[in-house]
Amino acid sequence: MSDCLFCKIIDGSIPSDKVYEDDDIFAFHDIHPKAPTHVLVIPKIHIPTLADVENPDLLGTLMSKVNHIANDVLKLEAGYRIVINVREGGGQEVFHLHVHILGGKKLPF
Ligand code: AMP
Ligand code: ZN
Repeated sequence: MSDCLFCKIIDGSIPSDKVYEDDDIFAFHDIHPKAPTHVLVIPKIHIPTLADVENPDLLGTLMSKVNHIANDVLKLEAGYRIVINVREGGGQEVFHLHVHILGGKKLPF
């Protein structure tokens, strides 16, 4: 989608600090980290929010790859938190589905 910030990060027209990419997803460091490690994982196809996902297989693929990135790429052995903000009331600011991976310290809840 031409006016989407995260689509522009995927196509490289906006720079990012990439940590992982494959045919399905792209992962990069959050520009305003809320933990020592804060990475965003996004599908390469433009889907505005979690509530817009029509194919449940996409969520299985996305969450499996989030797990791979957290464990094998970021090596968050002590653990991590995943967050998906949904729509304005859920705190979503960028309307391209994304999973936050937070780790690197004991996270309060
Ligand atoms: P959300 O509030 O769930 O929509 O999260 C959007 C996230 O995108 C926030 O944590 C922002 O800090 C992050 N963000 C916004 N612009 C950029 C950017 N250019 N590069 C990396 N992260 C960004
Ligand atoms: Zn997009």
